[in-house]
Amino acid sequence: MEAGEDCCVKVAVHVRPLISDEKLLGCKDCVTVVHAKPQVQIGTHSFTFDHVYGSTGSPSCVMFEECVAPLVDGLFQGYNATVLAYGQTGSGKTYTMGTGLKDGYQTGIIPQVMNVLFNKIGTSKNQTEFQLHVSFIEILKEEVRDLLDPSLMSKPDTVNGHVGKATSPGKPPIQIRETSNGVITLAGSTEVSVATLKEMAACLEQGSLSRATGSTNMNNQSSRSHAIFTITLEQMRKINIPNDSSLNDTMNEDYLCAKLHLVDLAGSERAKRTGSDGLRFKEGVHINRGLLALGNVISALGDEKKRKEGLHVPYRDSKLTRLLQDSLGGNSRTVMIACISPADINAEETLNTLKYANRAR
Ligand code: ADP
Ligand code: MG
Repeated sequence: MEAGEDCCVKVAVHVRPLISDEKLLGCKDCVTVVHAKPQVQIGTHSFTFDHVYGSTGSPSCVMFEECVAPLVDGLFQGYNATVLAYGQTGSGKTYTMGTGLKDGYQTGIIPQVMNVLFNKIGTSKNQTEFQLHVSFIEILKEEVRDLLDPSLMSKPDTVNGHVGKATSPGKPPIQIRETSNGVITLAGSTEVSVATLKEMAACLEQGSLSRATGSTNMNNQSSRSHAIFTITLEQMRKINIPNDSSLNDTMNEDYLCAKLHLVDLAGSERAKRTGSDGLRFKEGVHINRGLLALGNVISALGDEKKRKEGLHVPYRDSKLTRLLQDSLGGNSRTVMIACISPADINAEETLNTLKYANRAR
């Protein structure tokens, strides 16, 4: 499929700058960005994507405008959407999404989504009544955890600034369910009703704090879980109805509901590279299952020919894809942002990431 052709899945690559740790190690920049194509080159390999953002190229607002703003517009038209940040630990996923507590908080995608969302609501609230809900969960070892569980807030067992466990004892596990009309719901997770930008930002911050992290050789602040921040927008059009009760029924027809999933995926590196063993290794294996299933689902969706033949899309192969089922494919829009480090020591993983992303288009 040609770049830019209308497709339900768009793939962008984001190359972060060399960070100080890499400079201290004497790393060289081994990634070349050809904006005009748009292409990424590493060694003898080159890959073309829908968009490529390089460290010295465009500021984060350009990526937002091109990749994410159309999805926010779609939300107001009733289309579900998903933004996924993929890449090895340390490649800039959390920075790009804005799910970290300090890094990129202002320039990250989620804070920018919030700004646009509330601006748009502000300009049309005379004609339409809006309701917003937020949930924030993570999937670790094929288990869904509620990052907005209020009981986590009361006892912040902060080690290194992070809450140790993200499940409260006695609380039934969160279950992914599908309604008869194909809507995926999360039974047992906290859905916070938010009225202001400040309230939504507080949810992002609370959940980011609760997010379980574990240390690996790669990056001791990184997480091996998928973190999913979901915004649900409900719209009720206000109609000026004359004093005639028989017309009241028509009001319900002007109801729209859509959701936007903003996903900071687990690190894509192979378990062997994280020096994992025992429990850690198990986590690694399960995380790979989600990323593997996601790759299969997205590649099935992108394959026009297979889609026309009624190909089975393997959503049920992992919790991640099951949860995103009604927001990947169909009428919904998906953007995958493959994050990569430009450093030569990461070349092998960078190539893996580019291959994965390439398969998605
Ligand atoms: P990941 O979530 O993929 O493990 P992070 O988002 O934590 O990676 O980024 C790793 C490091 O790189 C952090 O120190 C972060 O501040 C830095 N970084 C990531 N992206 C950028 C960027 N676009 N510009 C500057 N620094 C970045
Ligand atoms: Mg991260």
